[in-house]
Amino acid sequence: MRLDGKRVLLTGGTRGIGRGLALALARAGARLVTCYRDDQDAAKVMAAELEELGDHRVVRADVTDAGDVARLVQECVTHMGGLDVLVSNAGTISHVPFEDLTAAEWQRVLDTNLTAMYRLVQQALPLLPAGASVIGVGSRSAFVGIPQRAHYTAAKAGMVGLVRSLAKELGPRGIRVNLVSPGVIDPGDGTLPEPVRRRYEGLTALGRLGTPEEVAGAVLFLAGDASSYVTGETIHVDGGI
Ligand code: NDP
Repeated sequence: MRLDGKRVLLTGGTRGIGRGLALALARAGARLVTCYRDDQDAAKVMAAELEELGDHRVVRADVTDAGDVARLVQECVTHMGGLDVLVSNAGTISHVPFEDLTAAEWQRVLDTNLTAMYRLVQQALPLLPAGASVIGVGSRSAFVGIPQRAHYTAAKAGMVGLVRSLAKELGPRGIRVNLVSPGVIDPGDGTLPEPVRRRYEGLTALGRLGTPEEVAGAVLFLAGDASSYVTGETIHVDGGI
């Protein structure tokens, strides 16, 4: 699934799933602008890894800040001369019993996972040509519900509706909009607690957790021309959880 010549904006590409997506997109021949919010050390490592693969950019931009997102989109114009693929991956999770869920925490999680995609697509839309592909990274939890994650699952379920509606609204312009819905993914950096791994492995049909590279497989498919007649869809990458 080559993406030669495609210009990609990927949010949250310095750690976890996003890091795997960034490397896979660059290896497939795409040019890339990606962003992070806090972890400058991870960003430096990522920038060095991407430099080996071509002319890519890693910039600091908070997807909850409209000004930062405008700057990020402008960076795509300056660096790549436009945009063909948008991947809204940056997200955040927290575990809070519903009784203790403050309005501020509800808002923070919705803003980072759901509103960020609205902000990103709206700001990038004037740049997107016919044939462009917009991809959101959702979550399996939106489809099953998870205790103590009402805010997170609501945000990710919102992305399903956002993608379906945008697919219909932007389809006449030749722009496709889809969602990739990961199950439990091991970032591969040793940070996943062993009890968590064991618990979730047992829930999957394949008996193991997924990898960022396996999420990237679905993103590469949706980013490229192999999926030219796929829009409004969710691809589950969850090992049959
Ligand atoms: P990580 O926490 O490992 O990495 C998140 C990335 O997004 C980092 O690069 C981080 O930058 C960046 N980021 C976070 N908040 C912002 C922000 N406000 N503005 C800009 N960048 C930001 O996340 P995961 O890899 O675990 O998750 C990636 C996506 O996949 C998320 O949308 C998540 O909900 C989804 N997902 C993850 C699953 C999993 O098992 N990991 C399962 C299902 C869905 P920095 O380091 O600087 O904060």
